[in-house]
Amino acid sequence: MIIGEQKPLDEIYDMVRKYREVLIVSCGTCVTVSFAGGEKEAETLASKLRIRARTQGHDRVFSTASAKRQCEWEFLDTVAAPIKGAKAVISIACGIGVQAIAEHFPGVHVVPGLNTSFLGMPVSQGVWEERCVACGDCILHHFGGLCPVARCSKVLLNGPCGGSVAGKCEISEDVPCIWQMIHDRLNTLGMVDNLDNIFPVRNWRTNNAAGPRRIIREDLKIPASPPAATSA
Ligand code: SF4
Ligand code: SF4
Repeated sequence: MIIGEQKPLDEIYDMVRKYREVLIVSCGTCVTVSFAGGEKEAETLASKLRIRARTQGHDRVFSTASAKRQCEWEFLDTVAAPIKGAKAVISIACGIGVQAIAEHFPGVHVVPGLNTSFLGMPVSQGVWEERCVACGDCILHHFGGLCPVARCSKVLLNGPCGGSVAGKCEISEDVPCIWQMIHDRLNTLGMVDNLDNIFPVRNWRTNNAAGPRRIIREDLKIPASPPAATSA
């Protein structure tokens, strides 16, 4: 899932300071599961912003609305009325949701209430970790299902750097060395010989270095209508 965390209250307040009425839009998918941008967080943020406004002597109104998903037009349409009626919107979805609102409602000033952090998963109560950077050419099968692209600090594809100590990455004792984990995993699978193969120089054009990526599924596209017949 996409993991995000709420921006500091001062930063959020400053982004909408000039608006009297502000709508906070939550998202019911990834950021609800990670307790960053769901309905409950929207209500809590609204309360905090009301208190902030009051303590600064500002007359402000903060209301909330909830979309099941902000990253699809049809779900955004369910909150079109409150969004169109607002001068400013704080989206507490990921950056995709913020941009979806900006594109779908061009007259509305939308600002991000979250920092979109990474693609990851919860590993224990209250702890989320990164697992994927969406490189566009998944190579997990070479590494026993563990990703050195997202999880090695040096993005090494041909073995460890040699700096790990007791299975921890040299950048921090809080970070496991993914190459130690890959080796242990391949050993368990009886596939450690995989590491004898030199991984070739990688084509990184599948990541976003060449600009925003796009997937087109011709089988799912709506066929273009045939041109209207013209009378002779
Ligand atoms: S190889 Fe790429 S797509 Fe696969 S998990 Fe790693 S970053 Fe994600
Ligand atoms: S210690 Fe391990 S995870 Fe850290 S940079 Fe070196 S190989 Fe990568």
